[in-house]
Amino acid sequence: MERAALLRSITCSTLACNRFFLRSSHRLSLPSASFSSSLSRSHRRSFGTLTRRSVLRRHWRLLPSSSSIPSTRCFSSLSPKAIATSPEQSSPDAVGSQDDLAEKYGFDKVSEQFIQECKSKAVLYKHRNTGAEVMSVSNDDENKVFGIVLRTPPKDSTGIPHILEHSVLCGSRKYPLKEPFVELLKGSLHTFLNAFTYPDRTCYPVASTNTKDFYNLVDVYLDAVFFPKCVEDFQTFQQEGWHYELNNPSEDISYKGVVFNEMKGVYSQPDNILGRTAQQALFPDNTYGVDSGGDPKVIPKLTFEEFKEFHRKYYHPGNARIWFYGDDDPNERLRILSEYLDLFDTSPASSESKVEPQKLFLNPIRIVEKYPAGKGGDLRKKHMVCLNWLLSDKPIELETELTLGFLDHLMLGTPASPLRKILLESGLGDAIVGGGMEDELLQPQFSIGLKGVSEDDIHKVEELVMSTLKSLAEEGFNSEAVEASMNTIEFSLRENNTGSFPRGLSLMLRSIGKWIYDMDPFEPLKYEKPLMALKARIAEEGSKAVFSPLIEKYILNNPHCVTVEMQPDPEKASRDEAVEREILEKVKAGMTEEDLAELARATQELRLKQETPDPPEALKSVPSLSLLDIPKEPIHVPIEIGVINDVRVLRHDLFTNDVLYTEIVFDMSSLKQDLLPLVPLFCQSLMEMGTKDMDFVQLNQLIGRKTGGISVYPFTSSLRGKEYPCSHIIVRGKAMAGRAEDLFNLVNCILQEVQFTDQQRFKQFVSQSKARMENRLRGGGHGIAAARMDAKLNTAGWIAEQMGGVSYLEFLQALEEKVDQDWIGISSSLEEIRKSLLSRKGCLINMTSEGKNLMNSEKYVSKFLDLLPSSSFVEKTTWNGRLSSENEAIVIPTQVNYVGKATNIYDTGYQLKGSAYVISKYISNTWLWDRVRVSGGAYGGFCDFDTHSGVFSFLSYRDPNLLKTLDVYDGTGDFLRQLEMDDDTLTKAIIGTIGDVDAYQLPDAKGYSSLLRYLLGVTEEERQKRREEILSTSLKDFKEFADAIEAAKRKGVVVAVASPDDVDAANKEHPNFFQVKKAL
Ligand SMILES: [Zn+2]
Repeated sequence: MERAALLRSITCSTLACNRFFLRSSHRLSLPSASFSSSLSRSHRRSFGTLTRRSVLRRHWRLLPSSSSIPSTRCFSSLSPKAIATSPEQSSPDAVGSQDDLAEKYGFDKVSEQFIQECKSKAVLYKHRNTGAEVMSVSNDDENKVFGIVLRTPPKDSTGIPHILEHSVLCGSRKYPLKEPFVELLKGSLHTFLNAFTYPDRTCYPVASTNTKDFYNLVDVYLDAVFFPKCVEDFQTFQQEGWHYELNNPSEDISYKGVVFNEMKGVYSQPDNILGRTAQQALFPDNTYGVDSGGDPKVIPKLTFEEFKEFHRKYYHPGNARIWFYGDDDPNERLRILSEYLDLFDTSPASSESKVEPQKLFLNPIRIVEKYPAGKGGDLRKKHMVCLNWLLSDKPIELETELTLGFLDHLMLGTPASPLRKILLESGLGDAIVGGGMEDELLQPQFSIGLKGVSEDDIHKVEELVMSTLKSLAEEGFNSEAVEASMNTIEFSLRENNTGSFPRGLSLMLRSIGKWIYDMDPFEPLKYEKPLMALKARIAEEGSKAVFSPLIEKYILNNPHCVTVEMQPDPEKASRDEAVEREILEKVKAGMTEEDLAELARATQELRLKQETPDPPEALKSVPSLSLLDIPKEPIHVPIEIGVINDVRVLRHDLFTNDVLYTEIVFDMSSLKQDLLPLVPLFCQSLMEMGTKDMDFVQLNQLIGRKTGGISVYPFTSSLRGKEYPCSHIIVRGKAMAGRAEDLFNLVNCILQEVQFTDQQRFKQFVSQSKARMENRLRGGGHGIAAARMDAKLNTAGWIAEQMGGVSYLEFLQALEEKVDQDWIGISSSLEEIRKSLLSRKGCLINMTSEGKNLMNSEKYVSKFLDLLPSSSFVEKTTWNGRLSSENEAIVIPTQVNYVGKATNIYDTGYQLKGSAYVISKYISNTWLWDRVRVSGGAYGGFCDFDTHSGVFSFLSYRDPNLLKTLDVYDGTGDFLRQLEMDDDTLTKAIIGTIGDVDAYQLPDAKGYSSLLRYLLGVTEEERQKRREEILSTSLKDFKEFADAIEAAKRKGVVVAVASPDDVDAANKEHPNFFQVKKAL
């Protein structure tokens, strides 16, 4: 889940694509990683693109801003394994012999450094024959990472680099099957497996903690990159890129292709269109002026010849940068590489792939673009405006870049940051757009703006941005704000918490950001010196002297500014579709009868190929572990359960580098039903409304100065075998252990002293939340559909939907008006929520840190609990919410659909067994992948089994189909019944499942998972039992599961988030199949 969250979060405007959409996108209900649905679905906040982009940022913008982002990704610590490199490796003798070995394998050592910040020895090599560069980073981190990155600047928007990124993973010389990538997904222990296309590079990373598994992954990726089958196989190009589809000469021709549909989805999202428009306008003269991901209008211009030529030209070792990281043998890395690199000679690729810098404009420009909008609502208030600057005509040196990063955090990093605060408080728009400072490309940019803006206010927004920047340059920042930003940045650097993203990968992305432009790959890894220098400068000269000149030079006095205005256009979607239809009709009209027959035959042939399984010999070529390589016991997390002041306290003694992580859990079950939709806004109010003595800016700065961040969010899940769900509000916080007292004092202050009196701020929260929900509906409709189905099937799902689904969006729409009419009523409802939550009864505390820190914190916990009311609970209310069980279509302006179908299989008498994890993963990776994605043309299709509620659901993502996808879901039972499977395949399926169950976690995530297991009643015995059941899964289990799945076919409920045309067509084909609900 977190993994998926991260992956999706980097599909932003700079990153054209992730290789695939992970099935666990909305939940992963495995016993070891029980992050429940509701957590990920309703409470991952994102502030426009601000946090989405931050994941990939280098240096101190690597992590999102402090206090208000509850996502798990900003919690965790230095890996316990990342301690100093072993002396053998750094002793002169060993180095000598290593150099000799490098020689032998054909590499010259360019440079070697010990990098204190990540306690690693890093050696840069150059391969003698080809010029390939290799960074070999050695340390004690067991989560090993490999990545190969090629510079792939496109010349047009046909999406060549993106289609190639998809295609090279579709079979290669040594692994001649349809999709070795999918085999790895199914059957390896990878902790990371994906590929990304950037505007100027393509990146293939893998990670694993198991050395044998790691080298298997590396070999498959190297073979894929250098010797892919796709350059000889037109059908792969058609499948991943684009092709004409014609099932029958009498029907219409349509476009199909995985990337084609993926990008149609991207081009349905206003934020994405804005980001792309801005980037292209900022860089009219170089490669960033086109879309490496592919514009659906341009993709069909791409020919197979151009595609092959692009691979020949750029996928050469001379144009590659290769990264190894972790605790494996550095010599083995070079040996493996030499096997591939020695097969190549020199090539001019690296000079041909150089990215030319964009020259600065002499005058600002302005662009107006339309985006597809729904017909409902007041369109005049749906404009967007964003100001974008290209900061320099060449790459900026590191120290300035770091200072700019700091400035970015000061201006925009937290809700209390002035630029963000002033824009949101202006009432001119609903939410921030633009990512702030962006330094992923050759030249840095800065963008900021608002969406949900009224047509008449566009210029006011522009003036406000400029006047705010001007006054920041004139007046500077107050010292509390500077201290808070400094502490936040330092904390996140030292904590180095990358969530479930491997640390080695995060370092690679930092390094490659410079290395790819032929700059020093070591520099970006070393933050300590420049950070200290900056601190000293601020102390000496004052922050104004440091930051004001930067604002003036790079923004205020910089003419290279592009203002992008986006106008809502309710006709755009249908106009685009009409244009596409017209083109296709012309194509058809120009074809002879023979041509049409031939096209129908080719369509048939492609489908047949897609649906024919790989022969067993080919499947065997993909290396795999054996069950003997798999530990028999689940990963153990230490837990000690004690009591302080009558409150249960869970302690996890883990190495966290002296960071204390805590979760304070309150029972939500006594809350009145009609208050549920207010809960997310209640949580935001706690963090962002301020107390009697401190306004929210001061409160946020205090949190920034004393802690590593605090967040508050609801958590809901079904409990297996129980009618009543578990529902809590969790306060999560972290700080250096020496500041435990501050941390608990601040949590107390937030919970008890915050005043719900600021009507204007509350109003902003409502519009921001509304904007966020609308965004989620367009970009993550599968999550919305899943929540909706859950809400029809169980109470926990209903609660979650009230706080994060379509019902929540409707609630927000009504609330927007109510804030003006009945603020007193709302304010007292917020107070009522607080009263029903805050009690020692029903409270639970979870702490993760080293033993001594846990012990030292006890007195502060005790004091914190003393201050909580001990009043006994108001009686448990009974929530009896359920949505009606009709099939439903949520209609939005989109070119692609999200289609879901779900049922509770416990109702059919199915009893949970560990094999269910293996089977549902298998269904996702074979049946649904092949039918929904490969032949259906959707970006993703998967199923999910929530073992707590019993809900088994099918979902598709960016799907061109609607009813057809439901047919695939309904065929799953038959697929399982007819399934034949050899031992090898079964073993792979089991190992892949263990890989999910044993997902790599940093210590804070371990402590958190243990807490959730405690809340959900998952015992160690149960985990052991499930693991044994997973390991002993047999074909018989698959057949038995088919019966449970059949129930979905008969009794399942369908929810689709879809385009109006497709819903109309579906209801014509099956009258009244869908109840229709307009959501945007
Ligand atoms: Zn893609």
